[in-house]
Amino acid sequence: EKKGETAAAVAPSSGKPPVTPDSVINLDHGDPTMYEAFWRGGAGERATIVIPGWQTMSYFSDVGSLCWFLEPGFEREVRRLHRLVGNAVADGYHLLVGTGSTQLFQAALYALSGGAAAGANPIGVVSPAPYYSSYPAVTDFLKSGLYRWAGDAKVFDGENYIELVCSPNNPDGGVRTAVVNSGGGGFVVHDLAYYWPQYTPITEAAAHDVMLFTVSKCTGHAGTRLGWALVRERAVAQKMSKFIELNTIGVSKDSQLRAAKIIKTITDGYEHAPVAAAVAGGDDDSGRLFHFARRQMVSRWGKLRAAVANSGIFTLPDEIPGHCTFANETVAAYPPFAWLHCEKEGVDDLEGYLRERKIICRGGAKFGVGGRFVRISMLDTDEAFAIFVDRLAAMK
Ligand code: PMP
Repeated sequence: EKKGETAAAVAPSSGKPPVTPDSVINLDHGDPTMYEAFWRGGAGERATIVIPGWQTMSYFSDVGSLCWFLEPGFEREVRRLHRLVGNAVADGYHLLVGTGSTQLFQAALYALSGGAAAGANPIGVVSPAPYYSSYPAVTDFLKSGLYRWAGDAKVFDGENYIELVCSPNNPDGGVRTAVVNSGGGGFVVHDLAYYWPQYTPITEAAAHDVMLFTVSKCTGHAGTRLGWALVRERAVAQKMSKFIELNTIGVSKDSQLRAAKIIKTITDGYEHAPVAAAVAGGDDDSGRLFHFARRQMVSRWGKLRAAVANSGIFTLPDEIPGHCTFANETVAAYPPFAWLHCEKEGVDDLEGYLRERKIICRGGAKFGVGGRFVRISMLDTDEAFAIFVDRLAAMK
């Protein structure tokens, strides 16, 4: 009881064993366990919810609305968060909820490829290399007759296509806009999973046709499995909602209630302690998630760049600064992944080279480029990250 509770309170929520200096360090997935330290502070208590046994039993949240499984409280808090951060225009957009943005991505492919009314040939799905490795994997998993993966958007010249624009980009952190320009037959899906102030300067309120977001990379609650989409056209939003209805008959209400409270806690944190106070040099980030996470990212990128300089066999993308309208200052980008390149003779398979040195990460081939690149998560625990940079610095 009391003893058990204490043990549960200190155990990491990932279920992964603790790391030691000679452990295998797994930085393959972008598992956002870095955020746990923030939520273990006072914010975690404020974000707690209790759901009595009689609540959230119905399939339905708002029977009359386009997205009938969307909890009104979740929608309200998401719209409030976008107003606070200024990273996307939400007014006038339809908001949909999904089991992770991964489900919404599939819903978007279904909706934009025409769904039930599609033509005979599958529509090509493209993204410029290096692209997020899940795009080809998820697109072709079920060998849909509606859409199929068509590779690197930079060399695509078909007429009908869906282009995936991930900005800032997973894996290399690049700020991106659509690249295919072939006569207006295409659709564009903007994956804005990382368009949050801890990763990149917020330079404008995005206002694209289909925009995908996820709590996974915003607040760190990947396990809650919640994403949302902002969709301009009603007909597209309706088809996406239909996909989720047929795929999973809606999205967990329990998750939506929890995510609503978590997002509310973040926004409240800023309304009670305004951004200006944080910028003015206050270093109490206990209520300000984006400032906490940015401080972490600044520190980690500093350590990583120092390790890369020490080693001498690696390079990283350059830091790109910009004026952030949220923080109201010029800040550099601190991507959630390190896109590491190795110049050393004979290291054609960098993923294998690092694996031999007990670092697990994802090789360039999965992102549509060569084996001298790897993607490494910057969002793991402090302990794992510290061991990783120590090992990297020693590689000569
Ligand atoms: N888009 C991008 C670019 C991602 O990196 C990820 C997670 N790795 C996702 C979408 C999926 O996020 P979710 O957990 O919401 O399914």
